[in-house]
Amino acid sequence: MSPPDRVSLVQAHADAAMAHMRDNGIAATPQNFMLWYHYCSGEHAEIKRTIDALLAIKGMFDDELSEDLFETFFGNAKQQRATQDASYRMLQTLSEALNEVSLAGEGARRYGDALHSFSGGVKDAPSPAAITDLLHNIVAETRAMAERNSLLERHLAHSSEQIRDLQTTLEEVRREALTDSLTGIANRREFERKLKASAAEAIAAHQDLCLIIADIDHFKVFNDAWGHQLGDQVLRLVARTITAGIKGQDTAARFGGEEFAIILPRTRLNDATLVALHIRDDVAAGQLIRRSTGEAVGRVALSLGVARYRPGEPLAEFVARADAALYLAKERGRNQVVAEGALQQAP
Ligand code: GH3
Ligand code: MG
Ligand code: MG
Repeated sequence: MSPPDRVSLVQAHADAAMAHMRDNGIAATPQNFMLWYHYCSGEHAEIKRTIDALLAIKGMFDDELSEDLFETFFGNAKQQRATQDASYRMLQTLSEALNEVSLAGEGARRYGDALHSFSGGVKDAPSPAAITDLLHNIVAETRAMAERNSLLERHLAHSSEQIRDLQTTLEEVRREALTDSLTGIANRREFERKLKASAAEAIAAHQDLCLIIADIDHFKVFNDAWGHQLGDQVLRLVARTITAGIKGQDTAARFGGEEFAIILPRTRLNDATLVALHIRDDVAAGQLIRRSTGEAVGRVALSLGVARYRPGEPLAEFVARADAALYLAKERGRNQVVAEGALQQAP
């Protein structure tokens, strides 16, 4: 495509996005524009599919949905921008502080020169009155120097406070980028990173590594019956239950919409299966209360698949085996755990 064609195509997609946002009462923010531009251009099939699916569930495009979608598709860009911004401000603060220190050095040198010339002046002073004048000058110069120093001290203290704040911001940005905003546990990106690291460690240390994939049963029915908001509350409850059921070395992550993954380093398949069984029981026993009315909401159940890592195999195969075990748990009637051993016996 020639550059002018490309420009007119981009213009057409931008016009379509603006028209769509106007017609559907969607706020004209840069974030929404970015989402709807990609939606209308059709170049990013997954964005279109996800927006359509979530709109079907939720029925409307609101700020919360916009945030979720933006984080899913452009979260990394947003984080990079925030990181760059904080790093830039940190550098600026540091260079200002260094500048002040070098100016202070200059001031101290000038003060030294002034003292030196005073000492010469005292030697050659024609009268006691002239010496008194010189002493007054020295006192004034010394006072000015002390003031400059205390100003510098205040500025440096302020700079170091700013740098501390910026470090905290950077840490928050980093943490946010690893976390699923709805449930507060690790997101898919962090899951991939942890799984890679855990597999490398399992190979190096000749240790077991297991993976559980869990999926809420008939969650579509639950959403249809109780609404999307309560559905979200269920997702948070399941995330909390899973977190409570694992140990510090393990990682719980939101794997997809209503799917969770748990990485269990240094754990045998039998033990991982026991962990999965406990989580299944705890979720089945959990009772959700609708906050507004205090009424008890329908229960949910989990199906879980458990797999053990075969050192050196591609991670996609490891994940696919846990997924196949989960699928078998669904087939066998849901609300149960299937470990990979059952896969060979399955018809
Ligand atoms: P199955 O037992 O076979 O897993 O049935 P299911 O209904 O859970 O599975 P299906 O894949 O048909 O539907 C998944 C549903 O999960 C669709 C949607 O209603 C719900 N869902 C996915 N993500 C979210 C979310 O972020 N919030 C809420 N409330 N619901 C979600
Ligand atoms: Mg699912
Ligand atoms: Mg499900």
